[in-house]
Amino acid sequence: MKIDVAEVVVTSPDRNFVTLRLTTDDGVVGLGDATLNGRELAVVSYLQDHVVPLLLGRDAHAIEDTWQFLYRGAYWRRGPVTMAAIAAVDVALWDIKAKAAGMPLYQLLGGASRRGLLAYGHASGRDMPELFDSVRLHLEQGYRAIRIQSGVPGLNAIYGIASNATAIGNIGVRYDHEPAQRAPLPAEEDWDTRSYLRHLPDVFEAARNEFGPELPLLHDAHHRLTPIQAAKLGKALEPYDLFWLEDCTPAENQDALRLVRQHTTTPLAIGEIFNTVWDYQTLIREQLIDYVRSAVTHTGGITHLKRILECAAQYQIKSGMHGPTDISPVGMAAAMHLGLALHNFGIQEYMRHGARTDAVFRQSFTFADGLLHPGDEPGLGVALDLDEAGKYPYQRAYLPFNRLKDGTVHDW
Ligand SMILES: [Mg+2]
Repeated sequence: MKIDVAEVVVTSPDRNFVTLRLTTDDGVVGLGDATLNGRELAVVSYLQDHVVPLLLGRDAHAIEDTWQFLYRGAYWRRGPVTMAAIAAVDVALWDIKAKAAGMPLYQLLGGASRRGLLAYGHASGRDMPELFDSVRLHLEQGYRAIRIQSGVPGLNAIYGIASNATAIGNIGVRYDHEPAQRAPLPAEEDWDTRSYLRHLPDVFEAARNEFGPELPLLHDAHHRLTPIQAAKLGKALEPYDLFWLEDCTPAENQDALRLVRQHTTTPLAIGEIFNTVWDYQTLIREQLIDYVRSAVTHTGGITHLKRILECAAQYQIKSGMHGPTDISPVGMAAAMHLGLALHNFGIQEYMRHGARTDAVFRQSFTFADGLLHPGDEPGLGVALDLDEAGKYPYQRAYLPFNRLKDGTVHDW
């Protein structure tokens, strides 16, 4: 079975997505997600200009060999653009292999280790009443674990807070957070760490009082703290029993987590901007984190993320795969198949896509009683409707950036 056609499909139904679509000489189609939020066209070029010519005529079954050929053969290793491109090829080949076998992909990865994947959603509000409305709406939608992000008094626009409130029938109000904005230039947000550190423990205390001790609650600090600030926050949040504190310090510096770990027992999750096992070497070996946040899409695909998570399993570190709306339905399906098969699955981030996106990507997954399941169609269980995709050309969009009150650019 040889790769006969390789197409890169760019579509922007509710947001931009990049999809690699491979077809074999006997007509089997495989899909891979290559979406890199805010830098989508760089991956399109990497695939179209450099990778597609290498794929034509290759054995579609040779997944490991193709992975090593693309990674080592490029000479220039790692990096989000390279690893998103390799991920797209890898996932498309796994999709093809599972379709050829007539099985859902999770069966090829070892079979199901659980009934479904515990998923968490994003609740947010500019103040506590809005936040609590948002938590209640997520509970009504079936979520059994919830990330909470709150506005901070004195700050106008910060990470994770929906800018638009939308009334939905008589259910309540939905606060969707979509950080990438379709605009010629990135939006500017503001930040003050001391205000945030003063306010956040009060938010978690109120949330625990309102929703009780059982509900798993998560929080994302989005790389904004120094190690000692992160240590202070983790300690302050201990009474509220977080499922995890995410991205507490800028992720490039693995050593920073040592200091945080010495001071707090709040579980730590990191890695959504990582793209290889090398980014986790210290973190895993020294047990400095509890959850690996990498997505299949940004981390070289199923082949490489599985390798990272198998290293992590030796240290009781679990998966917590990145899954906001910039992971396409193809990338989400790949995450679900891998998560279902892994022994050390922890939790899966899951934000719903919009109706236009769901029409472009027809999906077979289910979400019931807080659990995701990828379904039992052969392969990933996702079909790309090229006519629908063609209705939505690429639109320039950027993630925001962030400044402190004196104008200094800060981590976003
Ligand atoms: Mg995050």
